[in-house]
Amino acid sequence: MTVHLTNPQSRAHALQCVRCGRRHPFAPLRHLCDCGAEGAVLDVVYDWHGLRREDLDRCARQDMWRYRALLPIGPDAILPEISVGATPLSPNAGLARQIGVGAVLIKDEGRQPSGSLKDRASAIAVTHAREAGYRTIATASTGNAAAALACLAANAGLHAVVYVPETTPAEKLLSIRAYGAEVVTVAGSYDMAFAACLHAAQERGWYLRSTAINPLMTEGKKTAAYEICEQLAWRAPETVFVGVGDGSIIGGLHKGFSDLLALGWIGSMPRIFGVQVAGSNFLYRAWGQKIPLDQVERRSASSIADSLQAELPQDRFKALDAVTRTAGAYVEVSDDQVLDAMRLMARCGYLVEPAAAAACAGAIRAREQDLLGPRSEAVIVSTGNGLKDISSLRRMIAMPYAPK
Ligand SMILES: *Cc1c(COP(=O)(O)O)cnc(C)c1O
Ligand SMILES: [Zn+2]
Repeated sequence: MTVHLTNPQSRAHALQCVRCGRRHPFAPLRHLCDCGAEGAVLDVVYDWHGLRREDLDRCARQDMWRYRALLPIGPDAILPEISVGATPLSPNAGLARQIGVGAVLIKDEGRQPSGSLKDRASAIAVTHAREAGYRTIATASTGNAAAALACLAANAGLHAVVYVPETTPAEKLLSIRAYGAEVVTVAGSYDMAFAACLHAAQERGWYLRSTAINPLMTEGKKTAAYEICEQLAWRAPETVFVGVGDGSIIGGLHKGFSDLLALGWIGSMPRIFGVQVAGSNFLYRAWGQKIPLDQVERRSASSIADSLQAELPQDRFKALDAVTRTAGAYVEVSDDQVLDAMRLMARCGYLVEPAAAAACAGAIRAREQDLLGPRSEAVIVSTGNGLKDISSLRRMIAMPYAPK
């Protein structure tokens, strides 16, 4: 039997600047717009003409590559062998009761090969780097993007170089090293690691995976939204909750739902809720104060949710749009609320890292603030596995516990 894995051609045809709106012809190695506006990242624009849902079945892969026709990957690209995506979306009555809503569904990204949603983006990066003939691929990361890249690069036979801040949890560093990546620990914040990586990649001619400035990373992350809708028999959930640091995942989810709405494969958009921690809350402040993003005060970031630390979120424009255009909201939670939610999720069967628990803490907060109704349906994007950060598990276990 012959199976045709490829679609005739990638449908990506332009890169649109999120600041000036200008469209550039699709050139997958282009990073930023040249308009000079700060945060001028690009967004991939597609031509969906003639694409039908049945076309998805032409791809033999059941993982994220099922949506290959909706991705900026050419027909001759070699896909990673390791399977990324196809994570379960499972109802959880215990969490629904505790949060006080009609239904909770967990999108369990802790089951990805390297244990976080970042694998979806790294799978695109590695595929594209190979397509373009690169041997070395670099990224800045708070830890998970680096682990994801290290994993996918190992699988594809590429060399990975990762720039991480010194606050990266030991378990994440160990897994990155185990996959064989080269680790550069930057004495300072994630934002400093980001700048160092950008500089090195330009000097050395490496493929750069870093979030937001590589426009294709949003495209990998959007596959989580595709899966959620297909798992709901092609409808959008009422609400979606996700932890926000750089703002790339929330931007990717928004892109995914928007694509499906444009295609007519779903009939409505979900309300998207971005959850930030008090120690890293740039977007929460920007949204609440209703001031332009370039006037928001930049503060140093610190939280138990290491994956959500970003002084200046790299994908802030897409991240703000995701919430404002879907009548969602940004909510803020404390580190203690994150730890409480971590325990609550564990007691409902999900061992998650703090950044994933933040999404659940945000749903609790939104319910308290009446942003969510008592019969609402909430998808919680559980972005990362609890074994990635043992010291946070220790802190959570040591906390006093008074079950309801
Ligand atoms: C990266 C990450 C986030 C936040 O994603 P951003 O794109 O930085 O907003 C949330 N949870 C986990 C586990 C992550 O690794
Ligand atoms: Zn521009």
